[in-house]
Amino acid sequence: MAAYDESRAEDDGPIVRLTGLNKHFGSLHVLQDIDLSVYAGEVVVVIGASGSGKSTLIRCINGLEEFQQGRIEVDGNELLPNGASRAALHHIRREVGMVFQQFNLFPHRRVRENVTLAPRKVRGWSQDKARETADTLLERVGIADQADKYPGQLSGGQQQRVAIARALAMQPRLMLFDEPTSALDPEMIGEVLDVMRKLAREGMTMVVVTHEMGFAREVADRAIYIHEGRIVEQGRPEAVFDNPQQERTQAFLSRVL
Ligand code: ADP
Ligand code: MG
Repeated sequence: MAAYDESRAEDDGPIVRLTGLNKHFGSLHVLQDIDLSVYAGEVVVVIGASGSGKSTLIRCINGLEEFQQGRIEVDGNELLPNGASRAALHHIRREVGMVFQQFNLFPHRRVRENVTLAPRKVRGWSQDKARETADTLLERVGIADQADKYPGQLSGGQQQRVAIARALAMQPRLMLFDEPTSALDPEMIGEVLDVMRKLAREGMTMVVVTHEMGFAREVADRAIYIHEGRIVEQGRPEAVFDNPQQERTQAFLSRVL
């Protein structure tokens, strides 16, 4: 796991840089003056109460949400306010993998096809190359033996691991996870967290919204606490979890820990 090293990171430049990001849903000011940089190999965990803006934040990072003020840069591409950035959006969608709470697999495609579809279409890979890569990835997430099944024949934990393999097939520079274990039965949470842990160890740059505080503390290089659309506190996970400086962070953690 990469350490959060400000000096080295500055030389490399961040993979994600949010500057003065503001977003409104009508009269709701859902993200307020967000500044956030994520460096190569870093694992950033985002915590906060339901409705605080966590999903909106990571949806902004891969251009699924428009915003009104500020800058979003991902891998050197800049997203502009009010959706004026078609070319950058195209690039960002290729370079950023996203895993949702509700796996969002294609139900009428077999597991292997779920993984090969995007790289074949977007990267123009041959069937053989896509298939080989898919089988390697399915192996990596521990479900090589499920490749010929349909998503509906798999458990929730297996489906989520397919979703991770599918995102990885595009060879993303960055992976975004939005509560990837929240829809799972408790006995399946561990198998998905194990895959994410492995990814983190291999150096994948990750932004993870999660309520799994044990996982967050163990895997994160940095934890970020969001309250009502603002970053209220951030730092090493030990600092944020064991010694929070802000009253609102303390109150949140005392409810969830
Ligand atoms: P979290 O992921 O932290 O639970 P969200 O980012 O989903 O929070 O939502 C933050 C706030 O924005 C909530 O009050 C939610 O109701 C509101 N919101 C989210 N999406 C929309 C939308 N498409 N239109 C209007 N309001 C929305
Ligand atoms: Mg959410």
